[in-house]
Amino acid sequence: MGRAFVYVILGGGVAAGYAALEFSKRGIHHGELCIISEESVAPYERPALSKGYLLPEAPARLPSFHTCIGAGEKRLTLKWYKEHGIELILGTKVKSADVNRKTLITSNGETISYKILIVATGARALKLEEFGVRGSDAENVCYLRNLNDANRLVDVMKTFTGGNAVVIGGGYIGMECAAALVTNRIKVTMVFPEAHCMARLFTPKIADFYEDYYESKGVNFIKGTVLTSFENDSEGKVTAVILRDGTRVPTDMVVVGIGIRANTSLFENQLTLEKGGIKVNTRMQTSNTSIYAVGDVASFPVKLFSSDIRRLEHVDSARKTARHAVSAIMNPNSTGDFDYLPFFYSRVFTLSWQFYGDNVGDVVHYGDFSSGRFGAYWVNKGRMIGAFLEGGTKEEYEAIAKAVKLKMTVKDMGEFERQGIEFALKGDREVSSEIVSGVMVEKPAYNFHAAAGVAVAVSIAAFAYWYGRRRRRW
Ligand SMILES: Cc1cc2nc3c(=O)[nH]c(=O)nc-3n(C[C@H](O)[C@H](O)[C@H](O)COP(=O)(O)OP(=O)(O)OC[C@H]3O[C@@H](n4cnc5c(N)ncnc54)[C@H](O)[C@@H]3O)c2cc1C
Repeated sequence: MGRAFVYVILGGGVAAGYAALEFSKRGIHHGELCIISEESVAPYERPALSKGYLLPEAPARLPSFHTCIGAGEKRLTLKWYKEHGIELILGTKVKSADVNRKTLITSNGETISYKILIVATGARALKLEEFGVRGSDAENVCYLRNLNDANRLVDVMKTFTGGNAVVIGGGYIGMECAAALVTNRIKVTMVFPEAHCMARLFTPKIADFYEDYYESKGVNFIKGTVLTSFENDSEGKVTAVILRDGTRVPTDMVVVGIGIRANTSLFENQLTLEKGGIKVNTRMQTSNTSIYAVGDVASFPVKLFSSDIRRLEHVDSARKTARHAVSAIMNPNSTGDFDYLPFFYSRVFTLSWQFYGDNVGDVVHYGDFSSGRFGAYWVNKGRMIGAFLEGGTKEEYEAIAKAVKLKMTVKDMGEFERQGIEFALKGDREVSSEIVSGVMVEKPAYNFHAAAGVAVAVSIAAFAYWYGRRRRRW
């Protein structure tokens, strides 16, 4: 038993949805494209799961957040796929792949063959068991990666309204889930091994702001330690977590957000892997010319960082790598190298931040931390390469994005720090300036990147439009 398609997308998450829309825009025939997904629903905007989906009142539910609503584009429902002749093979896991035969074998034993394959398998949540802790399969321990996880978390939260939760991990998922738990009237203790939250991105000063804010909402932080075991009742439910120093924290429920691992296993020993993902070139093409990889599973050269190979775990990169791969497949001659500006964001409580670029080098903070309108710039070898902003306006977010894309030159760190957000805004306005109060905007760099800057601004504007409409929901 088997079916054959010209194009197959393996995985049905964010990248798959954006790739499908791009295929349809560029013109495919009915029956040429299929998406195989382990999940039982059409591709959706995964970030909604830790935001609008967890709200106690008027929570977001499908079909409202199917892709590609997150980028202000069409919402692709089952009906849309049907109308466009795109086969959705849902609730079906691919068990093996043979890149020489160009075939995939599904959990039903069906063989699906392709001419071109896009691997969009994303990532899975790391389990505590992988770190030697047993018992995370208890019914009141939750992870959050997919819709099933989110439904489970919602059910467990409802059971323990007014109770206590321990959140393991101080990254994205931990921070967003802690905020959601508080909003659901559950008292939270966060436990993580680092010295402060969001350690991969935040500076200690930025982290202080968010930790203070969380504490003002009743969240308790236990830092610099890890969970070593659970205590359970006679039914197997977790009743307390035990930390490395022996501390016992009683709890009604646990949420675990300790990182993810890219789903590469089908292609190990078949495709070149790097940085934990499937290595691709600037056209998202893997070491096998018939196979492309996009989203969380892809490790790609970031031009802005001297083509250093990076694997990003963020929705914007999933959307854009997917579109670029389809462009390279369908219109190879008019598709250039992927030129990406890394962009992450998060929203918790009434706070909201955006980050562009890379967080290496010297850091300069600016703005007013007491009022919640502040930011940071990262400077490496005299160039601005990263920017963070909390509570910014649309114009300010656009300006920091552009400043990083331009890698604006910083001559005088003191002046740079004093100017703060004005530095980016001025750079944005004074297009042809060469010297702005001791700060130089390099003319050639600007000219070279002008078109890219406009493209960035347009995509940010689309995001801002969507975000403005949706900020209370996801
Ligand atoms: C709760 C949550 C909140 C997030 N919030 C943010 C945020 O605020 N900002 C941000 O920038 N990013 C956020 N992210 C990250 C963002 O969602 C991911 O970067 C994005 O989903 C990656 O898209 P993807 O298509 O590569 O992978 P995914 O969206 O994970 O999709 C992968 C798909 O492949 C399927 N699959 C995997 N293996 C197989 C197989 N063998 N057979 C069949 N199907 C398979 C999976 O079931 C899944 O449907 C969040 C992620 C989560 C989980």
